[in-house]
Amino acid sequence: MSKIKLVFLVLCCIFLACSKIKAQDKLYPNEFQLKDVVLLEGPFKHARDLNIQTLLKYDVDRILAPFRKEAGLPAKASGFPNWEGLDGHVGGHYLTAMAMNYAATGNAECKRRMDYMISELKACQEANEINNIDWGKGYAGGMPNSKAIWSTLQKGDFRAYRSAWAPCYNIHKMYAGLRDAWLYTGNNDSRTIFLKFCDWGINITSALTDEQMQSMLDAEHGGINEIFADAYQITGDVKYLVAAKRFSHRMLLDAMAADNDNLDNKHANTQIPKAIGFQRIAELTHDKYFTEAGSFFWETVTGKRSLAFGGNSRREFFPSPSSCIDFINDVEGPESCNSYNMLKLTEDLFRTDPSAKYADYYERTLYNHILSTQHPEHGGYVYFTPARPRHYRVYSAPNEAMWCCVGTGMENHGKYNQFIYTHNNDSLYLNLFIASELNWKEKGIKIKQETIFPDEEKTKLTVTEGSSHFNLMIRYPSWVKDAALKIIVNGKAVSYKSHPSSYIAVDRLWKAGDVVQVLLPMQNSIEHFPNVPSYIAIMHGPILLGAKTGTEDLKGLIADDGRWGQIPGGQKLPVDKAPIIIEDDISKITDELVPIKDKPLTFTAPGLKMINPIKVVLEPFYKIHDARYMMYWMSLTNTQYRSYHDSLAVQHKE
Ligand SMILES: [Zn+2]
Repeated sequence: MSKIKLVFLVLCCIFLACSKIKAQDKLYPNEFQLKDVVLLEGPFKHARDLNIQTLLKYDVDRILAPFRKEAGLPAKASGFPNWEGLDGHVGGHYLTAMAMNYAATGNAECKRRMDYMISELKACQEANEINNIDWGKGYAGGMPNSKAIWSTLQKGDFRAYRSAWAPCYNIHKMYAGLRDAWLYTGNNDSRTIFLKFCDWGINITSALTDEQMQSMLDAEHGGINEIFADAYQITGDVKYLVAAKRFSHRMLLDAMAADNDNLDNKHANTQIPKAIGFQRIAELTHDKYFTEAGSFFWETVTGKRSLAFGGNSRREFFPSPSSCIDFINDVEGPESCNSYNMLKLTEDLFRTDPSAKYADYYERTLYNHILSTQHPEHGGYVYFTPARPRHYRVYSAPNEAMWCCVGTGMENHGKYNQFIYTHNNDSLYLNLFIASELNWKEKGIKIKQETIFPDEEKTKLTVTEGSSHFNLMIRYPSWVKDAALKIIVNGKAVSYKSHPSSYIAVDRLWKAGDVVQVLLPMQNSIEHFPNVPSYIAIMHGPILLGAKTGTEDLKGLIADDGRWGQIPGGQKLPVDKAPIIIEDDISKITDELVPIKDKPLTFTAPGLKMINPIKVVLEPFYKIHDARYMMYWMSLTNTQYRSYHDSLAVQHKE
């Protein structure tokens, strides 16, 4: 072969390698199949099982009603009146939830419902091609007034699109549901409907200029760029990658890629899914621009804009630094959807960069926000989690409140087994300390994790079957002190040089009977409110502690069908009458906590000096339900309190 020919051949190979990725039957190669990570008894298994019961109370035909309606098919049931303008958005979440819970537990009713939904959606997609001939080929959405919106949008007329409630957000949910039914259960019909729907998305916008695309993306649109990246990964067809980039909102992308935090006063859950899409594009293309955008967004939100429980946003928006006091005054605290999406972004970032900082954030948000957003008895979902002292939260009821956070809530509690372990070549990452059994099929090995963490400060892993050489990467959490973590393998302590917020590698031939004990000493700590230094939260290890303060006027505790039922609308108790901690040396506050015997993670604080005192019983915030609570405390020195008191007196006089 001549030199020129060889160079040509090499160039061709490089071009092909760059332009196409191999089609994949799996999107997240570092994750185990859900059925291969079995949850054992504990709060997460309880939440997952309860959630399945809750999910099965929903009427599938009502969930599917908007899809049939828009496709011109006769009604089988009436749609939901609540959040009617966004009807259809819950359908995709519900499909994801059915798929994940079936994949994880083998629940037959979840499978039956999933299969039924897919057959109905297939019928809708086919009907759209016939009944909506000028715009409907491939469409599988349930957005109200679809015809008016999409038939005009394809011609560049955005009037109907703009007067509707987040059409792209709405249909993104069904894209994700169809993807997940294929991804988690291998349902090929779902894959076909998904890809046809993706083609519809490309066709309906094919006549729009890039400028018009950006104008369209000004409205909340979920992670619609994400699903085109998924389609690219599934098929290897570059047209989907082109679409993923076309559907990326440059207002956020350009700022984040330039390390410019432009999030002040922006709707939080509109922005987070965009960043998920940026990161998915980055993962598949290694494009530096998208890589920087995804990771800078995450750093900004987790580092500067999140509360101690991992949530962000007040009144659904990111406040400017000077407006952060709103978190204390408002009852519309962080929205659950935001944390659902931040965890997705975290999973995606971890796949390309398995750093412990991602797992640290994941754990914090999982326990303190996600787990807390399900009522542990009736299974209702929470929308807002107020940080306002002595306020409370309200919960959804099945088939009534069809909020966005009901949609994400349906998914949240079915994916607790997703991130406990991940793998990467010959490394197994132990990310979370949750009782579970792992079947690592590729290695022919089974591992059981036994723990009641965080009620105890340790976990134990036992290899129960097989033998294989691999690196066990044990997470050294940020909340364990330097040199305080202990790892004991078959009775022998493992020495290490790592520091908190890292992974410790234990590389050996593992075999049945091997036992790894990990000791995780926890301590109390104080966290300041972002940009409001006078307010603090009290943590124990990664667990946010709160205190119940009463049950008066819990108006709308279980929300009705009203448009604003998600807002805890009971009386706002005056902030200045809430308990205020008086302490000249703030570092001493944690010394005042006294553990209550036989009640893990529960403390009194009899020595704490307080204005407006209460009998403090601190407990994990995720266990506080049906009550008003303290999550953040005003904490002042004696001098600060005198000036605060004087300023209140002036205000009252005025
Ligand atoms: Zn929401």
